[in-house]
Amino acid sequence: MSDLHIIILGPPGSGKGTQAQRIASGMGLKHLSTGDLLRDSVADGKELGTKARAFMERGLLVPDEIILGLIKGELASLNGEGWILDGFPRTQLQAEALSEILEEKGVDIDHILLIDVDPDVVVRRVLGRRVCQDCNAVYNTATLEEGKKEICGKCGGRLVKRADDEEDTIRRRFEVYKEQTSPVLGYYDKRYGGHITIEGAGDIDEITAEIIRKIK
Ligand code: ADP
Ligand code: ZN
Repeated sequence: MSDLHIIILGPPGSGKGTQAQRIASGMGLKHLSTGDLLRDSVADGKELGTKARAFMERGLLVPDEIILGLIKGELASLNGEGWILDGFPRTQLQAEALSEILEEKGVDIDHILLIDVDPDVVVRRVLGRRVCQDCNAVYNTATLEEGKKEICGKCGGRLVKRADDEEDTIRRRFEVYKEQTSPVLGYYDKRYGGHITIEGAGDIDEITAEIIRKIK
Protein backbone atom coordinates (compact mmCIF):
# COMPACT_ATOMS: atom_id res chain seq x y z
CA MET A 1 0.00 0.00 0.00
CA SER A 2 1.16 3.47 -0.82
CA ASP A 3 -0.23 6.82 0.21
CA LEU A 4 0.95 8.72 -2.84
CA HIS A 5 -1.43 11.16 -4.54
CA ILE A 6 -0.91 11.25 -8.27
CA ILE A 7 -2.54 13.00 -11.22
CA ILE A 8 -2.06 11.50 -14.66
CA LEU A 9 -2.65 13.70 -17.70
CA GLY A 10 -2.32 13.05 -21.40
CA PRO A 11 -4.25 13.22 -24.65
CA PRO A 12 -7.05 10.74 -25.39
CA GLY A 13 -5.56 7.39 -26.30
CA SER A 14 -2.18 8.19 -24.74
CA GLY A 15 -2.55 5.10 -22.57
CA LYS A 16 -3.07 7.03 -19.36
CA GLY A 17 -6.04 4.89 -18.32
CA THR A 18 -4.13 1.66 -18.91
CA GLN A 19 -1.10 2.95 -17.03
CA ALA A 20 -3.22 4.34 -14.20
CA GLN A 21 -4.86 0.91 -13.70
CA ARG A 22 -1.47 -0.82 -13.64
CA ILE A 23 0.17 1.65 -11.29
CA ALA A 24 -2.83 1.57 -8.99
CA SER A 25 -2.82 -2.21 -8.69
CA GLY A 26 0.99 -2.41 -8.56
CA MET A 27 1.35 0.18 -5.81
CA GLY A 28 -1.90 -0.28 -3.91
CA LEU A 29 -3.46 3.02 -4.92
CA LYS A 30 -7.12 3.72 -5.54
CA HIS A 31 -7.72 4.33 -9.27
CA LEU A 32 -10.24 7.11 -9.85
CA SER A 33 -11.20 7.57 -13.49
CA THR A 34 -13.90 10.09 -14.38
CA GLY A 35 -14.26 8.37 -17.79
CA ASP A 36 -15.02 5.02 -16.07
CA LEU A 37 -17.36 6.68 -13.57
CA LEU A 38 -19.22 8.38 -16.43
CA ARG A 39 -19.46 5.20 -18.51
CA ASP A 40 -20.72 3.28 -15.47
CA SER A 41 -23.38 5.86 -14.85
CA VAL A 42 -24.40 5.79 -18.54
CA ALA A 43 -24.64 1.97 -18.39
CA ASP A 44 -26.73 2.12 -15.19
CA GLY A 45 -29.14 4.55 -16.87
CA LYS A 46 -28.56 7.13 -14.12
CA GLU A 47 -29.74 10.70 -14.71
CA LEU A 48 -26.19 12.01 -14.60
CA GLY A 49 -25.20 9.43 -17.22
CA THR A 50 -28.04 10.42 -19.50
CA LYS A 51 -26.92 14.05 -19.35
CA ALA A 52 -23.25 13.19 -19.89
CA ARG A 53 -23.72 10.73 -22.74
CA ALA A 54 -24.44 13.20 -25.54
CA PHE A 55 -21.26 15.15 -24.78
CA MET A 56 -19.09 12.04 -24.57
CA GLU A 57 -20.33 10.55 -27.82
CA ARG A 58 -19.53 13.78 -29.65
CA GLY A 59 -16.02 13.92 -28.22
CA LEU A 60 -16.78 17.00 -26.13
CA LEU A 61 -16.08 17.55 -22.47
CA VAL A 62 -18.91 16.89 -20.05
CA PRO A 63 -19.81 20.19 -18.30
CA ASP A 64 -17.73 20.98 -15.21
CA GLU A 65 -20.66 20.95 -12.77
CA ILE A 66 -21.60 17.38 -13.76
CA ILE A 67 -18.00 16.20 -13.37
CA LEU A 68 -17.57 17.96 -10.05
CA GLY A 69 -20.79 16.41 -8.77
CA LEU A 70 -19.44 13.00 -9.75
CA ILE A 71 -15.93 13.27 -8.34
CA LYS A 72 -16.60 15.20 -5.12
CA GLY A 73 -18.38 12.28 -3.47
CA GLU A 74 -15.62 9.90 -4.55
CA LEU A 75 -12.91 12.13 -3.10
CA ALA A 76 -14.86 12.74 0.10
CA SER A 77 -15.09 9.00 0.77
CA LEU A 78 -11.29 8.59 0.69
CA ASN A 79 -9.43 8.79 3.94
CA GLY A 80 -5.72 8.44 4.31
CA GLU A 81 -5.26 6.16 1.32
CA GLY A 82 -3.25 6.94 -1.80
CA TRP A 83 -4.88 7.51 -5.18
CA ILE A 84 -4.26 8.16 -8.84
CA LEU A 85 -6.62 10.52 -10.64
CA ASP A 86 -7.13 9.65 -14.30
CA GLY A 87 -9.08 11.96 -16.62
CA PHE A 88 -9.55 14.62 -13.99
CA PRO A 89 -8.94 17.55 -13.82
CA ARG A 90 -9.49 18.31 -17.50
CA THR A 91 -10.15 22.05 -17.33
CA GLN A 92 -8.63 24.93 -15.39
CA LEU A 93 -11.87 25.28 -13.41
CA GLN A 94 -11.77 21.59 -12.43
CA ALA A 95 -8.12 21.99 -11.37
CA GLU A 96 -9.00 24.94 -9.15
CA ALA A 97 -11.95 23.06 -7.64
CA LEU A 98 -9.69 20.08 -6.94
CA SER A 99 -7.14 22.32 -5.20
CA GLU A 100 -9.89 23.60 -2.92
CA ILE A 101 -11.18 20.12 -2.07
CA LEU A 102 -7.66 18.89 -1.32
CA GLU A 103 -6.84 21.92 0.81
CA GLU A 104 -9.92 21.23 2.93
CA LYS A 105 -8.82 17.64 3.36
CA GLY A 106 -5.21 18.63 4.03
CA VAL A 107 -3.97 16.44 1.19
CA ASP A 108 -1.06 17.31 -1.13
CA ILE A 109 -0.48 16.14 -4.70
CA ASP A 110 2.83 14.25 -4.89
CA HIS A 111 3.26 13.84 -8.65
CA ILE A 112 1.82 15.20 -11.88
CA LEU A 113 2.48 12.79 -14.74
CA LEU A 114 2.09 13.64 -18.41
CA ILE A 115 1.94 10.86 -20.97
CA ASP A 116 3.02 12.41 -24.22
CA VAL A 117 2.12 10.91 -27.57
CA ASP A 118 1.74 11.79 -31.24
CA PRO A 119 -1.83 12.28 -32.64
CA ASP A 120 -1.36 9.67 -35.41
CA VAL A 121 -0.28 6.99 -32.95
CA VAL A 122 -3.38 7.84 -30.94
CA VAL A 123 -5.83 7.45 -33.80
CA ARG A 124 -4.43 4.02 -34.70
CA ARG A 125 -4.55 2.88 -31.10
CA VAL A 126 -7.96 4.19 -30.27
CA LEU A 127 -9.56 2.53 -33.29
CA GLY A 128 -8.34 -0.84 -31.93
CA ARG A 129 -9.32 -0.17 -28.32
CA ARG A 130 -11.82 -2.50 -26.64
CA VAL A 131 -13.07 -2.26 -23.07
CA CYS A 132 -14.67 -4.84 -20.82
CA GLN A 133 -18.32 -4.04 -20.19
CA ASP A 134 -18.08 -5.49 -16.68
CA CYS A 135 -14.69 -4.59 -15.16
CA ASN A 136 -13.49 -1.70 -17.43
CA ALA A 137 -10.24 -3.49 -18.30
CA VAL A 138 -8.75 -2.07 -21.52
CA TYR A 139 -7.43 -4.13 -24.45
CA ASN A 140 -6.31 -3.56 -28.03
CA THR A 141 -7.28 -5.75 -31.00
CA ALA A 142 -3.63 -5.56 -32.12
CA THR A 143 -2.53 -7.65 -29.11
CA LEU A 144 -5.62 -9.78 -28.42
CA GLU A 145 -5.27 -13.40 -29.55
CA GLU A 146 -7.25 -14.59 -32.55
CA GLY A 147 -10.58 -16.00 -31.36
CA LYS A 148 -10.31 -14.16 -28.01
CA LYS A 149 -11.03 -10.67 -29.26
CA GLU A 150 -14.43 -10.41 -27.59
CA ILE A 151 -13.96 -11.87 -24.11
CA CYS A 152 -12.24 -10.24 -21.11
CA GLY A 153 -9.25 -12.29 -19.93
CA LYS A 154 -9.76 -11.00 -16.38
CA CYS A 155 -13.47 -11.53 -15.74
CA GLY A 156 -15.01 -13.16 -18.82
CA GLY A 157 -17.09 -10.03 -19.57
CA ARG A 158 -17.83 -8.91 -23.10
CA LEU A 159 -15.32 -6.60 -24.83
CA VAL A 160 -16.90 -3.67 -26.63
CA LYS A 161 -15.81 -0.63 -28.60
CA ARG A 162 -16.42 2.68 -26.83
CA ALA A 163 -19.05 4.87 -28.48
CA ASP A 164 -16.54 7.75 -28.71
CA ASP A 165 -13.79 5.70 -30.38
CA GLU A 166 -14.57 6.67 -33.99
CA GLU A 167 -11.97 8.49 -36.10
CA ASP A 168 -13.64 11.91 -36.38
CA THR A 169 -14.56 11.85 -32.69
CA ILE A 170 -10.98 10.99 -31.73
CA ARG A 171 -9.64 13.93 -33.73
CA ARG A 172 -12.15 16.22 -32.02
CA ARG A 173 -11.14 14.88 -28.59
CA PHE A 174 -7.53 15.69 -29.44
CA GLU A 175 -8.47 19.28 -30.29
CA VAL A 176 -10.47 19.58 -27.09
CA TYR A 177 -7.45 18.28 -25.18
CA LYS A 178 -5.15 20.89 -26.73
CA GLU A 179 -7.54 23.75 -26.08
CA GLN A 180 -9.03 22.92 -22.70
CA THR A 181 -6.79 20.41 -20.94
CA SER A 182 -3.23 21.51 -21.81
CA PRO A 183 -3.71 24.70 -19.74
CA VAL A 184 -4.14 22.44 -16.68
CA LEU A 185 -0.46 21.49 -17.02
CA GLY A 186 0.48 25.16 -16.97
CA TYR A 187 -1.61 25.58 -13.83
CA TYR A 188 0.26 22.75 -12.06
CA ASP A 189 3.65 23.88 -13.34
CA LYS A 190 3.07 27.24 -11.70
CA ARG A 191 1.74 25.70 -8.51
CA TYR A 192 4.20 22.83 -8.06
CA GLY A 193 7.08 23.88 -10.29
CA GLY A 194 6.84 21.12 -12.87
CA HIS A 195 5.64 17.71 -13.93
CA ILE A 196 7.07 14.38 -15.04
CA THR A 197 6.83 13.65 -18.78
CA ILE A 198 6.64 10.06 -19.95
CA GLU A 199 7.00 9.12 -23.62
CA GLY A 200 3.81 7.18 -24.40
CA ALA A 201 4.73 5.54 -27.70
CA GLY A 202 6.71 2.56 -26.36
CA ASP A 203 5.97 -0.86 -24.90
CA ILE A 204 3.21 -0.91 -22.23
CA ASP A 205 5.27 -2.81 -19.63
CA GLU A 206 8.31 -0.59 -20.12
CA ILE A 207 6.21 2.54 -19.73
CA THR A 208 4.74 1.20 -16.48
CA ALA A 209 8.25 0.38 -15.21
CA GLU A 210 9.49 3.85 -16.14
CA ILE A 211 6.62 5.55 -14.33
CA ILE A 212 7.17 3.49 -11.18
CA ARG A 213 10.90 4.26 -11.29
CA LYS A 214 10.21 7.96 -11.58
CA ILE A 215 7.67 8.23 -8.77
CA LYS A 216 9.26 6.00 -6.14
P1 ADP B 1 -9.86 9.51 -23.06
O1 ADP B 1 -8.78 10.03 -22.18
O2 ADP B 1 -9.38 8.41 -23.95
O3 ADP B 1 -10.60 10.59 -23.80
P2 ADP B 1 -11.71 9.07 -20.82
O4 ADP B 1 -12.28 7.76 -20.46
O5 ADP B 1 -10.79 9.70 -19.81
O6 ADP B 1 -10.96 8.80 -22.18
O7 ADP B 1 -12.87 10.11 -21.14
C1 ADP B 1 -13.90 9.84 -22.06
C2 ADP B 1 -14.86 11.02 -22.19
O8 ADP B 1 -15.51 11.26 -20.91
C3 ADP B 1 -14.23 12.37 -22.54
O9 ADP B 1 -14.06 12.53 -23.94
C4 ADP B 1 -15.24 13.36 -21.96
O10 ADP B 1 -16.38 13.50 -22.78
C5 ADP B 1 -15.69 12.66 -20.68
N1 ADP B 1 -14.88 13.08 -19.50
C6 ADP B 1 -14.10 12.27 -18.73
N2 ADP B 1 -13.53 12.97 -17.73
C7 ADP B 1 -13.94 14.26 -17.87
C8 ADP B 1 -13.68 15.48 -17.17
N3 ADP B 1 -12.86 15.52 -16.10
N4 ADP B 1 -14.30 16.61 -17.61
C9 ADP B 1 -15.12 16.61 -18.66
N5 ADP B 1 -15.41 15.50 -19.38
C10 ADP B 1 -14.82 14.33 -19.00
ZN1 ZN C 1 -13.58 -7.78 -17.41
